[in-house]
Amino acid sequence: MPNCNIPGPKSAEYLQISEQFEPGCTSQQAPIVWESAEGCIVTDVDGNKYIDWTSGVLVTNVGHCHPHHVKKIQDAVARLMNPYDFPTPERVTLARRMVQAMPASAKNLDTCFLLTTGSEATEAAMRVAKHYTGRHEIMSFWGGFHGRTWGAMSMAGKMGTKKQWGPLMPGCLYSPYAYCYRCPFGLKPETCDFHCQTWMDKTVETASTGDLAAVILEPYQGGAGFIFPPDGWLTRVQEWCRDRGVLFIVDEVQASFGRTGKLFAIEHEGLSPNLLCLGKGIGSGIPTAALMAERGIMATFAPGEMSSTTGGNPVSCAAAHAVLDIMEQEKLVDNSATVGAHMLSRLKQLSEKHEVLGEARGKGLVIGLEFVKDKQSKEPAADLTMEVITRMCRQGVVCGRVGIYGNVLRVAPPLVITLAQADRSIDALDRVLTEIG
Ligand code: PMP
Repeated sequence: MPNCNIPGPKSAEYLQISEQFEPGCTSQQAPIVWESAEGCIVTDVDGNKYIDWTSGVLVTNVGHCHPHHVKKIQDAVARLMNPYDFPTPERVTLARRMVQAMPASAKNLDTCFLLTTGSEATEAAMRVAKHYTGRHEIMSFWGGFHGRTWGAMSMAGKMGTKKQWGPLMPGCLYSPYAYCYRCPFGLKPETCDFHCQTWMDKTVETASTGDLAAVILEPYQGGAGFIFPPDGWLTRVQEWCRDRGVLFIVDEVQASFGRTGKLFAIEHEGLSPNLLCLGKGIGSGIPTAALMAERGIMATFAPGEMSSTTGGNPVSCAAAHAVLDIMEQEKLVDNSATVGAHMLSRLKQLSEKHEVLGEARGKGLVIGLEFVKDKQSKEPAADLTMEVITRMCRQGVVCGRVGIYGNVLRVAPPLVITLAQADRSIDALDRVLTEIG
């Protein structure tokens, strides 16, 4: 049973440099400095080893430094790094592969526009939707997160993130998401008939100028705290869009590439969005993103109206090809479903055992643990969550937190995690929660 002394002396040294020369505006983490990683195991600069529950924030789906991934990237770097908008074999064949990988319900997504970051993909989706429809409003959801660039930030509704920014992009409307653990209407998902979804009409009635172009949502809300809507809710939103001639955009920047136990999260309900934003896991560590779109929608652009300096560069494309190879060869989507179901069932048992673990929820290998002061009041316990994270590190598991209230611990290991590693890490959590009492 590891008992890592954190921060070790070398970590402490680097943390001091960070404090002195970095702005300190990124998210709060346990006090360790990563040096290397392999598969599901991270090593810090002091030589401590941890099971990774972060995947470098839901990125390294195929595991850290997978040999096939590394080799393909190294080969690509040595050949050609960036030809700007000129096509390369890697780019055009990746576009074909991505289109062919679309699930049966989303065969309408027959073009793939390669980009660099998730924010770039959601920004592009928004621009495309406005350009195609000639309308300017975008509806998103309370708690949503679509990136940190101006438009992406304007489209989302995460509490507190808009303070002191002045006016945001005009034409943004917000509706409630299905955060059933903390339903803003005090209803229960079994009997509410998706009451929050019907608010989309109220949002339009009260806030729209009659110019709604698109609705954008995450299939589960990541930044807001791994919030999963009840089955059927996303389909209802899609129908709402269809009935009103509004484009339906799904932001799977963090939900794709096997994370939820399916290659794409839209597969769970057989959704057919008009635009699909991808990122993170597609490059598994090499910055890569994509906008999957219907050809008819993209056809409204003349050549040169949309491009990206490093989007679709050969190194990113080689990385994404390698990710798809590994997913297929190692059946990582199946592993995500199987190990994820096992982890969720054990974590639900822990939530029955420990008063502070209010809820364990998830799909595949994306599980949120919501910490509360007690189950009755459900008062968010952000400080306790940070304490759990620090103690988990000492026990040899590295994890982080998210959530509107900063009280949700992320369980999102690389998809190569084994059952034995899963059990070891959950045993560590059980010990930590017992210690905390
Ligand atoms: N959309 C979602 C759902 C995300 O989770 C994120 C990143 N956390 C983004 C967009 C933005 O991606 P990036 O940080 O690569 O710009």
